[in-house]
Amino acid sequence: MPTHVERLGTRISVPLEPDADGFVGRECPNEKCLKYFKVTPNTGIANPPSSHCPYCGHTDDSDTFFTEEQIEFAKSIAFRQFTEAFHRDLNSLEFGHKATGPFGIGISMKVTSSGGEPIKYYSERQLETHVVCDQCTLRYAIYGVFGWCPDCAAHNSFQILSKNLELARKQLTLADTVDYDLAEHLEADALENVVSAFDGFARQVCAERDADIHFQNLGSARRRVAEKFALDFADALAVDDWILICRVFQKRHLIAHKMGVIDDEYIKKANDATAVIGRRVRTERSEVTAAIDLAEKLGKRLFDGLLAVRAPALSSQGVIHGKSAATPHIASFAKNDWNNGTEVMADITLIENSSAGTSDSVLSAQKVQIERTSPAVSTGIDGISSMGNHLTKIEWHGGNAAALKQITDIRIVAQGLPVIEAPVNRFYESPRDSGSGGVIFFVLEGVE
Ligand SMILES: [Zn+2]
Ligand SMILES: [Zn+2]
Repeated sequence: MPTHVERLGTRISVPLEPDADGFVGRECPNEKCLKYFKVTPNTGIANPPSSHCPYCGHTDDSDTFFTEEQIEFAKSIAFRQFTEAFHRDLNSLEFGHKATGPFGIGISMKVTSSGGEPIKYYSERQLETHVVCDQCTLRYAIYGVFGWCPDCAAHNSFQILSKNLELARKQLTLADTVDYDLAEHLEADALENVVSAFDGFARQVCAERDADIHFQNLGSARRRVAEKFALDFADALAVDDWILICRVFQKRHLIAHKMGVIDDEYIKKANDATAVIGRRVRTERSEVTAAIDLAEKLGKRLFDGLLAVRAPALSSQGVIHGKSAATPHIASFAKNDWNNGTEVMADITLIENSSAGTSDSVLSAQKVQIERTSPAVSTGIDGISSMGNHLTKIEWHGGNAAALKQITDIRIVAQGLPVIEAPVNRFYESPRDSGSGGVIFFVLEGVE
């Protein structure tokens, strides 16, 4: 007959009660993060073997995400169960022997329960944003606004942009039902919301890839994204549409900072044939409506280009409630991977500056990964800082070191944009085969 203690087995499972909103707290196990979030059980992916931190993207076994308080609570429950079982076992041993005969010694034992350790109850914390993942339907709550889905690792930034753009559309619809002054105000507010929602979204997308890029001026944002990621997100739009959305963003800048009065800068940047310095800028309803749709297209392109570049690995993650497992555009990669540069399709030109007069060879649709180090800043004796040259690591999948033997310079063009044109550097490291069917080499880029 097993004792009560033995019957407990080696594992005691302690169910965690959801809070009033149906959430159970979670904590990122990554030492550098340890941030708190919540999920609703039985939404999202059924029994996901791994979870993702919405803040830092850390991926680990689901059962490493318990909070400190939950663990303390479970320990106290387990300890209570154990001591109770232990007392019951002792109770069954209770005995009392009467002293018998002239020299007998009576021994008795009585067990009293001490009540044991108190249960360490806890309550879940309040968080700022509740999200239902549009990919896997997980309900989760986070600090701030943006984050990765703890179940499927899809980033919620585009979902949040869409929601904000939808609000702006509703403001415009509302503007139709009110008087002129209020309608004008609503329109200006809708425009403001479109720009700030897009800026917030796009900055976050870039921040997830370790770049700090502002998007209130679309032209310079486009250049910076192209430089940093070899991605032209404006290729999602026709040229006229790109000009339109840039103009609308410039109008919002005037309205927000210059009381809507047209200045020099607007004339230079906005490509607006009707603009006269000193007059108030006019926004047409149709422009704002169009800008909302265009912002959504640009956002989608940026999101797909930077945060949803890998195919989902869902087959190993179980069933998705209410959706086919083949949902596209799910980013399911660990953050550590990104620092190694994104894989892009590019045309590579191998340039041979030899006296033999051989012509350059162009290889199209090559897979490359480009990893830039931040440029060194050096201060000369005149006290003027200058950006030094810097090494850029390139991994060319499908290439090999032999192909680069006579090559002095490399030109890489991705999506129509020149990404790199620089001499191959052999001082830092000679081109070497990567061992996975590619070649790794360095070029020396100069920064103006
Ligand atoms: Zn984390
Ligand atoms: Zn999800």
